[in-house]
Amino acid sequence: MIERTFVLIKPDAVQRGIVGQIIERFERVGLRIAALKLVWPTKEIVDEHYPNVEQWLRSVGEKALKGYEKQGKKVEEDPIEIGKRVKRMLLDYLTSGPVIAMVLEGNHAVKLVRKIVGPTEPLEAPPGTIRGDFTKDSYVSADTLGRSVRNIIHASDSRKEAEREIRIWFSESEIIDYERPDIYVILGKDYKKLKKE
Ligand code: ADP
Repeated sequence: MIERTFVLIKPDAVQRGIVGQIIERFERVGLRIAALKLVWPTKEIVDEHYPNVEQWLRSVGEKALKGYEKQGKKVEEDPIEIGKRVKRMLLDYLTSGPVIAMVLEGNHAVKLVRKIVGPTEPLEAPPGTIRGDFTKDSYVSADTLGRSVRNIIHASDSRKEAEREIRIWFSESEIIDYERPDIYVILGKDYKKLKKE
């Protein structure tokens, strides 16, 4: 189904000058850029983007614990406490420089973009994914250096999250409707039947 998703190219990628290479991967698979801007995020917007919701704090903590385990590091910290620490580090990371905020639209956009992006920890991200191709950062390195995992990019993980994030970063007037004629070739001439729900 045709849907929208939200993508943020993080400050490390903007500073490394790899924005073009990243966007190219989304364009070539048939995703349409519906909105795009360069912004230097404030603490407030990052705080809204990653709210202190228990479910998110816990899932971040649990993912980190799995990452430590894979590298043979024993950590017995409460996942929520790890989540809170990550949140503080994310505030520093995402306000350290400009980012590219984007809305992408296309068939199964949310799932497709997460696939192209790869898993959270770049060390575990397979070659061919953005996180796997542009860095090899890990939870252990990030921890040792007392900073957030520098994993290049953020992408919404569900349609509901996508709509919430799009509303944080864009006003309705910044999201533009236009046609990309090659989509007819990629999906077939009746592709509009894959209507947005
Ligand atoms: P994703 O970005 O893949 O959806 P999460 O929502 O779990 O992942 O985490 C948000 C961001 O927080 C990650 O993209 C990464 O930059 C940072 N991060 C997550 N876990 C850790 C960690 N254990 N240590 C440092 N930074 C982390």
